[in-house]
Amino acid sequence: MSLLSVIVPCYNEEENVSCFYEELMKNTPFFEKEGLDVEIIYIDDGSKDRTVEEVKKLREKDERIHLISFSRNFGKEAGVYAGFCKAKGDYVVMMDADLQDPPSLLPELFGYIKEGYDSVATRRVTRKGEPPIRSFFARMFYKLMNKISKTEIVDGARDYRLMTRQVVDAILAMSEYNRFSKGIFGWVGYKTKWVEFENVERIHGETKWSFWKLFLYSIDGITAFSTVPLAIASVMGILFCFLAFIFIITLVIKNLIMHDPVAGWPSLVCIILMVSGIQLFCIGIVGQYLSKTYMEVKKRPIYLVKEEF
Ligand code: UDP
Ligand code: MG
Repeated sequence: MSLLSVIVPCYNEEENVSCFYEELMKNTPFFEKEGLDVEIIYIDDGSKDRTVEEVKKLREKDERIHLISFSRNFGKEAGVYAGFCKAKGDYVVMMDADLQDPPSLLPELFGYIKEGYDSVATRRVTRKGEPPIRSFFARMFYKLMNKISKTEIVDGARDYRLMTRQVVDAILAMSEYNRFSKGIFGWVGYKTKWVEFENVERIHGETKWSFWKLFLYSIDGITAFSTVPLAIASVMGILFCFLAFIFIITLVIKNLIMHDPVAGWPSLVCIILMVSGIQLFCIGIVGQYLSKTYMEVKKRPIYLVKEEF
């Protein structure tokens, strides 16, 4: 028998814990046919509702249920990492608790693993049920990201992935503090099959991602997988030096030949404002990388466990 570990990050998902379990267990005939043992690892990301109690209730019925409960909310990325650390399976799959990653897709995903793929990823082809503004910015982000980063990051990719032990070990070897999983999966490589499916809306509760949170997350993603913004700062510096040089020459020529006194301080003010603005912008870019490096150097634990079984 081989073991399949299912990692389920949960943050305030009290209604979804048991729904998810039931939905997953509909695959039992498939698990039996393939000779798969299953372990389900719920990660409670510092939920403020009854998520932990719900998981404990399930555990009384089923020994295969496991829980890692965090001391506070550490974010989904930390949850997924904790799940990877705990998973013992020969195959590992991660799914959202809200059933937006349909467990009914598992047999298809597993089929590709048997065909010889190391990792089977999913992407949604529609963004139905999402605010149009959010879809627009999401699409822009993926376009930009793929221009400035060598790591391929697929638009619409969900964090619903089935992987072999080899891939999981590769991901665990990346113990960085700023974890942007979409980038990490792309970075480790391996033979990946993409499966497409229609967007499903969450059954209970609300999304935990506000627009602002997504914006900050996208900056995390850019700084974690590209250094192009740093190069932009240098290029802008060179460009402005060049412009200044041309200005100086024209002014000198104007003065010497045409005896035209330099008039107009408004233009000067504009130039000073613009150039200092660009300088601050570039210092900001450097600051982003510095702050990420700072957090990385501290080597703080990615998550803290309050309870585990
Ligand atoms: N999640 C988490 N910690 C957080 C935020 C979310 O573990 O700080 C979990 C959440 O419980 C869910 C999954 O991550 O299982 C995806 O979250 P959500 O459905 O809010 O995101 P969306 O599907 O809207 O992108
Ligand atoms: Mg969701």
